[in-house]
Amino acid sequence: MNKKIPMRRCAGCSEAKPKKELIRITMLDGGGVAPDPTGRAHGRGVYLCIGKKECFEAARKKKALARALHAEISNEELDALAEKLLEYEK
Ligand SMILES: [Zn+2]
Repeated sequence: MNKKIPMRRCAGCSEAKPKKELIRITMLDGGGVAPDPTGRAHGRGVYLCIGKKECFEAARKKKALARALHAEISNEELDALAEKLLEYEK
């Protein structure tokens, strides 16, 4: 079997990893950002390593999420996202 594994790049550590080791983050219609565990929500998405707080923090520092999503993301929204990401800690 030579199945291709879909790879995505983490916005924090910039490492390319199999999609299932990353969590997709998308913009919400009503504003703000949220994890998209299905990976199928419409719109732009950005990926972070699952369960790695340091990747979120690195992405936050670089403003990588706002850049990838082409949107302004407030500190409050980032805090809320950090909280939600805790649910995906392994
Ligand atoms: Zn990472």
